[in-house]
Amino acid sequence: MTIAENLKAVQDRIAAAAKRAGRDPASVKLLVVTKTVDPARIREAVKAGAAILGENRVQEARDKIAQLGGLATWHLIGSLQKNKAKYAVKLFDLIHSVDSLELAQEIDQQAARAGKIQRVLIEVNIAGEDAKAGINVGTAVDLAREAAKLRNIRIQGLMTMPPYSEDPENSRPYFQRLRELAGVIIKENISGLSLQELSMGMSGDFEVAVEEGATMVRVGTAIFGSR
Ligand SMILES: *Cc1c(COP(=O)(O)O)cnc(C)c1O
Repeated sequence: MTIAENLKAVQDRIAAAAKRAGRDPASVKLLVVTKTVDPARIREAVKAGAAILGENRVQEARDKIAQLGGLATWHLIGSLQKNKAKYAVKLFDLIHSVDSLELAQEIDQQAARAGKIQRVLIEVNIAGEDAKAGINVGTAVDLAREAAKLRNIRIQGLMTMPPYSEDPENSRPYFQRLRELAGVIIKENISGLSLQELSMGMSGDFEVAVEEGATMVRVGTAIFGSR
């Protein structure tokens, strides 16, 4: 299958999952994950309709954006170190991986310097795994409350990566938990905060994620093949 065919198949599966859940397929954005994918193949995906591209490393993204920049919108989905925040603000429309107040503050400062309001998501370590990025469920509300006070970032939702599993059904309870957490934060009525996005679901489990309310799914392997 070509990249274009794979992309179409993923789009169709997203639409079918949305319909099963009684959702409008247009309420789910497909983020095409291009980490390790070379510019020629990214170009092919863009030609076939990929509009949002996800990279997990700032340096790798910098080189690609220099070549392909305006062809699409770029999101950072991998962990961000504070000393790279300056570049991330320059490069990305949305940063999915804010998991501490210190990082939020650094992004805020860099955004102020760049004259930008940086859109971000809070990454949640939904299963409380030791080696996983993301803030713990128990402190996510506090981070949302404090980060919402920063003027040059706009928190738009939550992101998570459940524990790896062969069976997509194993991800379902974690996706439900992220949606519930978003509901808890929304109920706090935090001034300046408008959580609309749930970034969840990858090649192995994006249909389950859509059934559970994902507004963004991040798919690489199902489009480009294994890395
Ligand atoms: C690599 C990556 C993805 C895409 O994973 P696939 O299984 O290739 O679809 C999604 N989200 C994050 C954070 C990633 O690092």
